[in-house]
Amino acid sequence: IIQITNLKKSFGLNEVLQGIDLTINKSEVVVIMGPSGSGKSTFLRCLTFLEEPSDGIIEIGEFTVLAGGKIERKRKKVIRELRKKTGFVFQSFNLFPHKTAIENVMEGPIIIHGTKPVEARKLAEALLIKVGLGDRCDHYPAQLSGGQQQRVAIARSLALNPLVMLFDEPTSALDPELVREVLQVIKDLAQEGMTMIIVTHEMNFAKDVADRIVFMDEGLIVEQGTSAEIFQTPKEERTRRFLSKVE
Ligand code: ATP
Ligand code: MG
Repeated sequence: IIQITNLKKSFGLNEVLQGIDLTINKSEVVVIMGPSGSGKSTFLRCLTFLEEPSDGIIEIGEFTVLAGGKIERKRKKVIRELRKKTGFVFQSFNLFPHKTAIENVMEGPIIIHGTKPVEARKLAEALLIKVGLGDRCDHYPAQLSGGQQQRVAIARSLALNPLVMLFDEPTSALDPELVREVLQVIKDLAQEGMTMIIVTHEMNFAKDVADRIVFMDEGLIVEQGTSAEIFQTPKEERTRRFLSKVE
């Protein structure tokens, strides 16, 4: 359901993505790994046009957008639709501080899908229960731990019923003891068949959850395969070097 063709992105003279090709099937969980500065975040941001790619084609579900095209009205509309179908969870949780957990989750369906508040509240409550926060609906972000806030952020993305969830180092801002609860929620989603692209440095989690691991360096996909292939028998020297440093 996702097809990325020859995706490129430059910042000035710095070509951060040098032509990425990647196909992701429904219910597939793809973990992206690679050294700092290899372009992982830029890649995810380009997929949702938070950054405008310099070149390439992005197809998500029924939507196809060519990079670098003129920003005409129709294109903007397609990008807006594509974003609605793509959940994005970042390192920082970005919840609305003056809204409770449940209000944070309800907001999207009401504003974007025009869901009635009563319905949106029901949906939000179900999602908060799902991420283990049924008893925290009326707490404000400041009254929640980092791990709980991140789980609210995940529920908020799920509320829009996305085709695919993108995660950019969702646990790297968390204290170690809070990491597990967030990873567990992501694992549950994988089990349910959610299509996901996850950038993470959590190796054990990656081994557990990934159908495929993509190793990126210097704006290119160096190698990809199952976790066994990447962790036990990496083909490329760069992959080996990276793994020997992090493990
Ligand atoms: P990390 O593991 O540290 O998060 P990353 O793989 O996510 O790294 P990116 O954040 O995608 O790497 O950055 C890739 C390169 O692009 C870096 O050299 C960075 O300096 C550059 N870059 C990213 N965003 C911008 C920007 N808005 N303007 C200019 N250069 C940028
Ligand atoms: Mg990054």
